[in-house]
Formats: sequence, structure tokens, C-alpha cells
Amino acid sequence: MRCPFCGNIDTQVKDSRPAEDHVAIRRRRFCPACGGRFTTYERVQLRDLVVIKSSGRREPFDRDKLERSIRIAMQKRPIEPERIDQMISGIVRRLESMGETDIPSKVIGEIVMETLARIDTVAYVRFASVYKNFQAADDFDKFVAELRPAKEDASEG
Ligand SMILES: [Zn+2]
Repeated sequence: MRCPFCGNIDTQVKDSRPAEDHVAIRRRRFCPACGGRFTTYERVQLRDLVVIKSSGRREPFDRDKLERSIRIAMQKRPIEPERIDQMISGIVRRLESMGETDIPSKVIGEIVMETLARIDTVAYVRFASVYKNFQAADDFDKFVAELRPAKEDASEG
């Protein structure tokens, strides 16, 4: 695994342990070249998912993008990081077990909203309000950008 700090590919695993209720392995890694330390997660990938946007465009499912949008919606909420990891893994497992490799972006958004609604109302409202525009724009990066400002108290009713 390449060191994210210096690019050295010869890094060492210092510690491996189960995470997220045994659906992932968390590895602490060390880079002997620069002394950097970082963490990787190993997870089962049941199948390669493809997202179909409302424009009909297809792109590979990107767990990191999903995670980013959820973490932004969860910003400053009193939820354990571990709980958020579990939630994201749960969403991905649901997607992977849907029986289809091609999944409309709309379905993903709905599953995320459903999950957030059960866990944290504020995060749900943040996500859902931006998601409406997202469906029109169909642009995930824009979606993430719109989620970013902390406008919790600037509600327009
Ligand atoms: Zn390094």
C-alpha cells in the first residue's frame, strides 16, 4: 500500500483488527521512509456497482463519495464516528444485495435518506434539502459543495 504522505510503496502493517462489527479489518500502517502513519480498511466487495444518473449517464459507484456526503450531513452531530462507518457499510451492503449491479442514483439517495432519518433528524433534513436540488443538477460534486456550508440555523422554514 502506497504511503499517502511520501508515495513510498513499501509500507508496513503494524496492527490489524476487526472493525465495524467484523465487516471490516482495520489496519494501522507505518511508512519506514517518512515515518508516516495511516489507516486502511479492508472490506468485502460483493460486486462492482454502477450508478445510473437521471441523465442516463453511468459511472462506477464510489464509496468515498457516498461517505463524504454522509459525513458532511453528519457534521457536528453527536454521532460516534464508528456508528457512521457502520451506517455507510450498511448502505453499501444494501446496494450490493439488491440483485442489480446498475443502480439509479435516485435509489441510492432514497436509501441514504431513509437511513439518516432513523439515526439523526438534523442530518436527515440537511441531506434531504440538498438532495432535492441534487436530483435536478445530477452532479454529485455540486451536491457535496452545497452540503458543506454549516447553515443549520439559517432555515427558511
Ligand atoms: Zn511515507
